[in-house]
Amino acid sequence: MSAQEELKKLAEEVAQCQLCELHYSRKNAVPGEGPHNATIMFIGEGPGFHENEQGRPFVGAAGKFLEELLSKIGMKREQVYITNVVKCRPPGNRDPKPEEVDICTRQFLERQIQLINPKVIITLGRYSMGLYLPHAKISDVHGQALRIKGRIVVPMYHPAAALHQGSLKPVVEADFSRLPELLSKNTTALEENELAAPSEADQSATQLSLF
Ligand code: SF4
Repeated sequence: MSAQEELKKLAEEVAQCQLCELHYSRKNAVPGEGPHNATIMFIGEGPGFHENEQGRPFVGAAGKFLEELLSKIGMKREQVYITNVVKCRPPGNRDPKPEEVDICTRQFLERQIQLINPKVIITLGRYSMGLYLPHAKISDVHGQALRIKGRIVVPMYHPAAALHQGSLKPVVEADFSRLPELLSKNTTALEENELAAPSEADQSATQLSLF
């Protein structure tokens, strides 16, 4: 089965999934969307109101802001894969519980990463950052390019946080504006050094660039 077909099958599994209690309150599960061979994958936290209504990731105000940020660096959302740590909306927009994050990432997100095999993963917010940097503070590491598990991981603030807290907006804009340079430099470096890249099992993070 091709990666594209496997992603489609995975999305069907997500739609039927009852592995954690979030399935009780969802209207639509939100598996994620984008090219099956995307170079860049964005991972947010979980679906919000609009995402739950439409079954698509980042379609509310935060999604609009993400599209603006991408557009400023000459990219469209159709070029990147966008998904979340949990695929069903936590009721009342509460934080996802650790066991929900654990079940959903092991069942779905890890498989999506394997299938899409992105060179770069951009984590949006604390929850997706925590998958790679469980002890980091986002205020310390946002905008840094780190080599983790053989990929470039760039932790960023969640666009919704920037919309709620105005002082973060210029920080997010500045981090995004530096992405093209960072990506061209580090994806080239990754291609050249692919054989020397740490394996998926390597939990260590190496800082590639500090803005
Ligand atoms: S959040 Fe994930 S694990 Fe929980 S029901 Fe939805 S798809 Fe299944």
